[in-house]
Parts: sequence; structure tokens; C-alpha cells
Amino acid sequence: MAFFNLHGNSQYYDGTDYRKLRGVMVDRQIRSRGVTDDRVLKAMLKVERHLFVPEKYHSEAYQDHPLPIGAGQTISQPYIVAFMTEALDLKPTDKVLEIGTGSGYQAAVLAELCDSVYTVEIVGMLAEMATKTLNELHYTNVSVKEGDGYEGWPENAPYDAIIVTCAPNQVPEPLKDQLREGGKMIIPVGQTYAQELVLLEKKDGKLKQHKVLPVRFVPMVNEKGKRY
Ligand code: SAH
Repeated sequence: MAFFNLHGNSQYYDGTDYRKLRGVMVDRQIRSRGVTDDRVLKAMLKVERHLFVPEKYHSEAYQDHPLPIGAGQTISQPYIVAFMTEALDLKPTDKVLEIGTGSGYQAAVLAELCDSVYTVEIVGMLAEMATKTLNELHYTNVSVKEGDGYEGWPENAPYDAIIVTCAPNQVPEPLKDQLREGGKMIIPVGQTYAQELVLLEKKDGKLKQHKVLPVRFVPMVNEKGKRY
């Protein structure tokens, strides 16, 4: 049932202390695994992850695993969201590009830490739902676009940071071009079952990269559903 809470936000209030669940999530899944950036931990504590997943999964929203969000897609495990966010080392003035909006949750976490977020999602229904959720939660510094994120979002480039939450076989050239000098990109790269999270940094126009973690993301696909 929809309620309005004291702050005037429309919420699904079911008596659960979600803030407490977020506190446990941050302590047991995130801080304990080595994410220490205080701003990132605060953002993870603040963003209401359960409001980004279907209502039937609200009770599981703060558990240590990914969850289905519709259209065969998933919202990443909380630890991975925190880990990737920390790796970008965001400043409050930064402009960030995300590829793979999904539920909009990662975009909301980024929006807590930087000036503006541009996020691209190839599935129209997910782009619409994420836009709605982010509007309801007053994330006015996030812009969502339906489209093929392989091409990035050139109109607003360059970006101080780029985060990709679907996995291509190689780092897309347009994304490399749209990263500002000194900027960082984090992206899962590889085949369906064997991907590595790669951190790239642009120095003197060249990209230095290193692998940071084995992961499993959904593939980056084009509009015909073929994987990159
Ligand atoms: N960051 C999301 C999780 C994303 S799951 C969240 O916080 O919920 C990966 C998403 O990437 C899926 O929604 C999928 O549809 C999308 N995707 C796959 N290929 C894409 C492409 N070429 N461009 C943009 N989005 C893509």
C-alpha cells in the first residue's frame, strides 16, 4: 500500500526498519570486505535500495546477492555497487556517466557523491521505471536516456568518471574517448562466465588499466540483443 511519510515522500511503508537493515548491510557486507571510503559508506546507508526492486523483493533488498528487476536483468549485489563506486574516487564536482541504468539504484548512489549523473539503458521499460523511481526520490541530478550505451552519451562528454554495469568483450572505444584526462572508468570485461572488473585511468591521453576483481555481470548487448 502506498503511504506518504513525514517527509512527504511516497513510500511503501510495511513496518520494516529498512534503515537498520541498511546499517547491517554496510557493516557485514561492505565495510568488513574492505570498502572504507566514508562518503561511499554514507551513501550506501542512505539510498533506499528496497525502493528500486519489485515489491515482492523488498524484504531481500539488503541481502548479500543480486536481485531480479524485470526484463531478465538484475540489480548488482550491494558490495559490488559500493566497491565500484569507491574505485571511481568521486569528487562533489564530478560529472559521471553510467552505462546500464537497470533499476537506477547505482545511479542514485553516484548521485549522492557527485554533481551530475548521466545514465543510459537499452531496455525502454527499465529506463522508464528507473526515471520514475529517481524522480519520486527527488534525484534531480540524474538524467536517464534510453539507448545503446556502447556509444556512451557524447553530448555531455567528457566525463570525470565512467561506470559500466553490463559486460562487453572489450572496452568500447566511444567510452574511452568520452573519459576526461585524469578520469577513471570501471567496467566488467570478458565472456559471459569469465569477466574481470577493470579499472582504467586516462593519463597523458593514454589508458592505463588493471584488473581488480573477477565478477559476473549481464552482457552488454546491442538493440538486436547481440552481445558486444
Ligand atoms: N546498474 C543497475 C544494474 C544494471 S544490470 C542497477 O543499479 O540496477 C545491467 C543493465 O545493463 C541491464 O538493465 C541491461 O538492460 C543494460 N544494458 C545491457 N546492454 C546495454 C547497452 N548496450 N546499453 C545500455 N544498457 C545496456
